[in-house]
Amino acid sequence: MKKERLHTAINDAELSLHRLARLMPGLASSRPLAEVLALIHETMGARLSWIMLEDGDATHLEVQGCPHAPKKAANDLLTLLRQQQTYWRVKCWHKNVGRLLYSDDHPLAQELQCGVLCRVLPLQGDARAFLFLAFDQPLYSPMILRSVATVIAEKLRDYITELITRERNALELQNIVNQYRILFDRAPVLMNSFDKHNRCILWNGECERVFGWTLEEINQQTDPLALFYPDQETRQRVRESVNYSPTLEMHEWYPCRRDGAVLATLWSNIMLPDGEILNIGVDITERKRVENLLKLKATTDALTRCYNRLAILEYLQQSLEQCHSERHETHFMLVMIDLDHFKQINDCWGHSVGDDVLIYFCQCIREQCLDLSRFGRLGGEEFLLLLPGADPAQAMALTDQIRSHLQRQPFLFGEVSIPLSFSAGVLAVSHNTHEPAHLLTLADKALYEAKRSGRGKTLLASLPVI
Ligand code: GH3
Ligand code: MG
Ligand code: MG
Repeated sequence: MKKERLHTAINDAELSLHRLARLMPGLASSRPLAEVLALIHETMGARLSWIMLEDGDATHLEVQGCPHAPKKAANDLLTLLRQQQTYWRVKCWHKNVGRLLYSDDHPLAQELQCGVLCRVLPLQGDARAFLFLAFDQPLYSPMILRSVATVIAEKLRDYITELITRERNALELQNIVNQYRILFDRAPVLMNSFDKHNRCILWNGECERVFGWTLEEINQQTDPLALFYPDQETRQRVRESVNYSPTLEMHEWYPCRRDGAVLATLWSNIMLPDGEILNIGVDITERKRVENLLKLKATTDALTRCYNRLAILEYLQQSLEQCHSERHETHFMLVMIDLDHFKQINDCWGHSVGDDVLIYFCQCIREQCLDLSRFGRLGGEEFLLLLPGADPAQAMALTDQIRSHLQRQPFLFGEVSIPLSFSAGVLAVSHNTHEPAHLLTLADKALYEAKRSGRGKTLLASLPVI
């Protein structure tokens, strides 16, 4: 009997060595774990095999030979061994390992005879791995099975270390991808991309929120860009400047929103590693609205709604800078206007009626002027009118026209009509060799002369020839 067992052990050893020799070249790191386990399972002639990987909270189990609830059996076995609280490297069951793993009604409970569980050591950090092999034959040589399992586990160590590193890297990469996806979707920045066929391939949450269309809705259009830029020429310029050539400069564009409102947006773009262009933009509609409002407030007289002193003097400076004696369209007329006896209106009717008179007066002047003219309040009841391209006769005619308009339609305070009269001094400016202050003094002199000589008239100031 002893001799027979020795003979069997020698046979087992020979067979195992033979199998190991066949197995080793197949355990290449490039193969997936399932394939590696299948190879071990088949080559070793096992009935049930599994490899369990534990890395932090992640558990990975590959099984061969048992399709039903394999994870529970593996977990139960490991839990059982952990409860024993003794260190082990290899555990070997001579027979009846099936009953240890499964309840009696499970087919493998009877079938599995001997088995071996081996730790794969050492691994990085708190990662752990186990190899389990079970056979449907009883075991005559536990030493051989232990050794075989240990050799395979040794060989698996490098493989599994690499696998864990790969999985950790993949997980890290996935986390980064997820973070970028969240950033892409939730950042308050417009991000999109169109392919060479004008299909939209990226459309983040901010684009959807600002423009009102989803990616699917955009791509239902023959030319998605037409939704935002109905004008074909603008669309072409957008395509050329934004979509195909990367630029770090910000360009201002005015696309349409789903409800038809026109937005103010700033765009730049970058080229992604795969060659696609990513457009990056910000919606500045609200900023522009506030900016325009502030600009309007900063340049408008609060009472009369015409330009304030600062703004009209700025226009005077600009007009002067553009003024060339050889170019007629750059000549301009400067008209200084002052209401006559305005103080009496205040004294007689009250300051608030005086205010209404100023508003009415300015409205009349704006109605009589051409679009290009600029009209501003210098202060009190004194105003400045700039008439580009006009000559003295036209300026005189315009003031006459305003006077007759005020005569025809005087200011009405209830039933009472209050006649308004004004005096003016005009000055023709055809070259830019004078300071604005000097021009204003000259016009003011003519205005003073108009006042002195009876009011209700316009006098022409002459510019000294240099
Ligand atoms: P003149 O014909 O010589 O120009 O006489 P005038 O009364 O028009 O000129 P004066 O400079 O003596 O008076 C101007 C008045 O305008 C004095 C000031 O109280 C009044 N005034 C200035 N700004 C305002 C304003 O915003 N609202 C009102 N209601 N009055 C103003
Ligand atoms: Mg006055
Ligand atoms: Mg005055």
